[in-house]
Amino acid sequence: LIRTVRLNKWFGRQHVLRDVDFVVHRGEVVVVIGPSGSGKSTLLRCLNGLETFQSGEVYVDGVPLHGPGVNLDAVRRELGMVFQQFHLFPHLTVLDNLTLAPVLVRRRPRQDAEEEALALLDKVGLRDKARAFPDELSGGQKQRVAIARALMMRPKAMLFDEPTSALDPEMVKEVLDVMRELAREGMTMVVVTHEMGFAREVGHRVVFMDEGRIVEEGAPEEVFNRPREERTKAFLGKIL
Ligand code: ATP
Ligand code: MG
Repeated sequence: LIRTVRLNKWFGRQHVLRDVDFVVHRGEVVVVIGPSGSGKSTLLRCLNGLETFQSGEVYVDGVPLHGPGVNLDAVRRELGMVFQQFHLFPHLTVLDNLTLAPVLVRRRPRQDAEEEALALLDKVGLRDKARAFPDELSGGQKQRVAIARALMMRPKAMLFDEPTSALDPEMVKEVLDVMRELAREGMTMVVVTHEMGFAREVGHRVVFMDEGRIVEEGAPEEVFNRPREERTKAFLGKIL
């Protein structure tokens, strides 16, 4: 569903993605781990056209993001993105946060969008917060709203960039539970996270990045229990 071929990205003189060949199959949950600055966020942002890249190829459901005449907006809509910071619109209610893009961008009838929004809020356990404003929610609740909002666009895959890193520990579980449920339903997901419990339990594959390269990848059990590369061992030694 998602594929990069020898993807290279520079910020000025800094080479932040080096020949990255990254593949995500339909229905797969891929967890990306690695030290700070290794290029995890940049990789996710290249997948949905939030960053340009200098060489290589990126395909989303067979559609290239490189070359002339690409419709980045169309590609971006195919992938839902959830960030560490929730990026909700503070002046809109939860319900309006969910319906804004579908109504304005996809021109869906408001009532239809609201029905779906309420169903999704139900799914993330927040139907009773539909009329609340983001300021009135906890961090975990805000992040669940952000997930519901991304799902409103009916994405082919969801990209998560450290979705629980800004949360107090007691709120991490409620967000991971929503993600676990999505995975169970077969959603294709790419998850950058430091939650190794989640990676082991929900991830089908773990990708370890360091200095802009994919150093090692494999089943969680393999990568965590029997890492082949020294750099993977050193990283896991620090965080586990
Ligand atoms: P973290 O775990 O801290 O989130 P990361 O693996 O997500 O790290 P990236 O954010 O992808 O790392 O950054 C990779 C490298 O690119 C870093 O060295 C960073 O300083 C640099 N970088 C990221 N964004 C920009 C930018 N907009 N302009 C210039 N350099 C950038
Ligand atoms: Mg990052």
